[in-house]
Amino acid sequence: MCNGAEGEPGTFKDRALLRANPYQVAEGLMIAAFAIDADAAYVCLKSGFEVERNRIIRAVAELQRADLAVDCEVTVVAGPDEYLFGEEKAMLEVIEGKPPLPRWLPPYEHGLFAASPQEGWEATPHGDRQRTDEPNPTLVNNVETFANATHILANGATSFRSMGTERSPGTIVATVVGDVVAPDVGEVEMGTPLGAVIDVVGSGPSPGRRIKAVFSGVANPVVTADQLDVPVSYEGFESIGSGMGSAGFIVYDDTACMIGAARRFSHFLSIESCGQCPPCKLGSAEITRLLDRVERGRATVADVAALAGWLDRVTDGSRCFLATEERRVVASVLRSFPDELAQHLDEGRCPLPGDRPMPKLVDLVEGRASYDESYRRKRPDWTYEPGED
Ligand code: SF4
Repeated sequence: MCNGAEGEPGTFKDRALLRANPYQVAEGLMIAAFAIDADAAYVCLKSGFEVERNRIIRAVAELQRADLAVDCEVTVVAGPDEYLFGEEKAMLEVIEGKPPLPRWLPPYEHGLFAASPQEGWEATPHGDRQRTDEPNPTLVNNVETFANATHILANGATSFRSMGTERSPGTIVATVVGDVVAPDVGEVEMGTPLGAVIDVVGSGPSPGRRIKAVFSGVANPVVTADQLDVPVSYEGFESIGSGMGSAGFIVYDDTACMIGAARRFSHFLSIESCGQCPPCKLGSAEITRLLDRVERGRATVADVAALAGWLDRVTDGSRCFLATEERRVVASVLRSFPDELAQHLDEGRCPLPGDRPMPKLVDLVEGRASYDESYRRKRPDWTYEPGED
């Protein structure tokens, strides 16, 4: 199964790869299907990714017309816009015709169309496909992984490993958006310092401004200005207590309010939470509300204590990683920018007012990023307030 949902804010690499060379992704998928002897493969993209969907459909059809992997049925799935569609356990549900609600067990333990017990989650027959009593483990990889597989098979592992670091070989397609001169997507060698990636891919911060913080999507602790020399590698980000995610970097300069950034990301995660685990849905909504009070300079000491309490409990009994993201992002901002928190509380106002868009990318072309304007109308039940954008 190829995960191309690309729901992580600040990330555009999968769409860039599919636009540039869908054959490379299709070929990687067929190599993987051959390697594990799969007779069915799925490519999952959001229904809004029309250009990319058409390209991969055409690439698969052309390859199969050329007699390649004809014994593997490839289905391209148009999924919902929800963030959780990209969660691999939820993606299986979507393929089976259901909403993107994460299952308990990972795909390698409980795969597609498996009808064995799921510890509380339904396992009802759905769609045309025959269910199996076996766990039917399912391989799930990202678009970029399949694109890399094609290269590795053609050129050899040694060639791939000649770039990057020991633990993070090869290259990565990075996205840089936010407070930079020209947001863009670009392929860089693993191990390149983050500051250099921001300069090379995003053309650096605006003249006269300095970078204050960088977020890799909304899933990892903030990277601060004094950490910009961290190598873009799995071990590099791990060494500073963060994570590289999908190498989608959201940059904030010294005019940005970090409480505002935390509130924005918390709101996104709170809206996108599916509510199967009450501490996640209720807790993230409360965290957003309390951050909003802090940002407006209206918070009391009791509000800050309540915020800390919810950060402690928000992950209780969680089925997926979203609640952990909420905790990691918000707690890291409060820990890394204590002076900004104190300033909001002491002065009763935001010292750096001015909102920024939620970096939920709709398109990214030639240094111009467009964001989903309709997102501000999305409600916690995934419906939208009526209105125009
Ligand atoms: S942790 Fe949150 S998003 Fe994940 S399944 Fe539970 S309620 Fe849904």
